[in-house]
Amino acid sequence: MICRQCGTEIADKAIVCYRCGAATAEPARRPAPAASGGRWRLGLVMAAIMLAIIGVAVVALPRMPEGWPRVAGYAAVVLVTFGVVVTLARLRFRR
Ligand SMILES: [Zn+2]
Repeated sequence: MICRQCGTEIADKAIVCYRCGAATAEPARRPAPAASGGRWRLGLVMAAIMLAIIGVAVVALPRMPEGWPRVAGYAAVVLVTFGVVVTLARLRFRR
């Protein structure tokens, strides 16, 4: 085949032109446009975890005695929720 860039005759199976280095064909694997399916799943996982935390909090917190144990319980819920969000955000922005 003929190189599109410089017109040199190159092997049909060549991936790049040996002379100018131009790619002979479109890249077979283009970067996926921001995998919307993955984001969907991540959002669902995040929602499920937060719902689970809130569910546990709704069930457990009213049974705690008034005062510090209950405050500690709310603080733990907030911290765990924050931790889940931060962790998922890190997973999302890796790569
Ligand atoms: Zn070339």
